[in-house]
Amino acid sequence: MKQIILTGDRPTGRLHVGHYVGSLKERVRLQNSGKFDEIYIMIADAQALTDNADNPEKVRQNILQVALDYLAVGIDPAKAHIFIQSMVPELTELSFYYMNLVTVSRLQRNPTVKAEIQQKNFETSIPVGFFTYPISQAADITAFRATTVPAGEDQMPMLEQCREIVHKFNAVYGETLTMPEILLPQNAACLRLPGIDGKAKMSKSLGNCIYLSDEPEDIKKKIMSMYTDPGHLRVQDPGKVEGNPVFTYLDAFSRPEHFAEFLPEYQNLDELKAHYQRGGLGDVKIKKFLNSVMQAELEPIRNRRKEWEQRLPEVVEILKAGSAVAEKTAAATLADVRKSMKIDYFEDDNLLK
Ligand code: ATP
Ligand code: MG
Repeated sequence: MKQIILTGDRPTGRLHVGHYVGSLKERVRLQNSGKFDEIYIMIADAQALTDNADNPEKVRQNILQVALDYLAVGIDPAKAHIFIQSMVPELTELSFYYMNLVTVSRLQRNPTVKAEIQQKNFETSIPVGFFTYPISQAADITAFRATTVPAGEDQMPMLEQCREIVHKFNAVYGETLTMPEILLPQNAACLRLPGIDGKAKMSKSLGNCIYLSDEPEDIKKKIMSMYTDPGHLRVQDPGKVEGNPVFTYLDAFSRPEHFAEFLPEYQNLDELKAHYQRGGLGDVKIKKFLNSVMQAELEPIRNRRKEWEQRLPEVVEILKAGSAVAEKTAAATLADVRKSMKIDYFEDDNLLK
């Protein structure tokens, strides 16, 4: 069986370091592993419009920003098809058919959707499109016959929902769709990177992000203002590392060689953590170290982004070419779906049979 990747991001803002460790880094690794036959990376504008219907300009502006972030982190258009969701109308048609296979109560149980409804203060005025976005995500995944979906932990309920749709579709209409699997980051700290405010998830919508395109001074300012352990008041006090975002970021970003380069008094992160827990290690020192680590990681990304910013017409061509390939693939799957559902009336005069 062909190994195929589908993954993507909503163009609701520039991409941040949560995306980087949760999904982008993994995508680049998989892209370069040579183990995948096809890779599709989707800029999910239609999904972004489900909770930004009154702000289409925001979504539009961020399409090129997200594409620039992709190219900056090393997604290679020669190996991966980068495309725009709404440029593949087949996805909408697939969603419409899948809607019949999902109940309202099943959608209501989706914990990520539940949390997002609360976070967005929708209360009783939830747009139907937003409520059903897990179904449209199932259409996105299955349209490309994806076997692997590299994503952060918040996407687990979406994948579960998608797998149920695949199972139901195949049971009702005959074996048609490919069963996908989520691929989570191996490092636990990367599953759901917290925001700089210590909130559960770094998220564009919460304004608690370090962006891949942030300038060095902004990164430093954000890191130095980070939430830490509120009980760690004086340097000599023992501190907590669990739930302390500075340490979570160090778990996600630091490597042993960073210690040799920026903090040679310690061999590794375990030693640093032990000292913090014992007391006698101040927040400023660990924040400064985190700043050095993150500056080193983000500098080449920012520089590549600036190069691509000078070549925007080329970026648009990449999106156009990617969208054309994506549409061709999705159309082939849609044809299979219509055939299985016996709604391919005019193929071979089927309606007369
Ligand atoms: P929005 O607030 O508009 O939903 P977002 O910041 O949640 O934006 P998405 O575009 O919804 O970003 O997510 C894209 C991908 O990045 C998904 O695979 C998601 O799991 C992953 N991701 C997003 N935020 C994080 C995070 N803080 N930690 C790890 N992975 C993340
Ligand atoms: Mg999100």
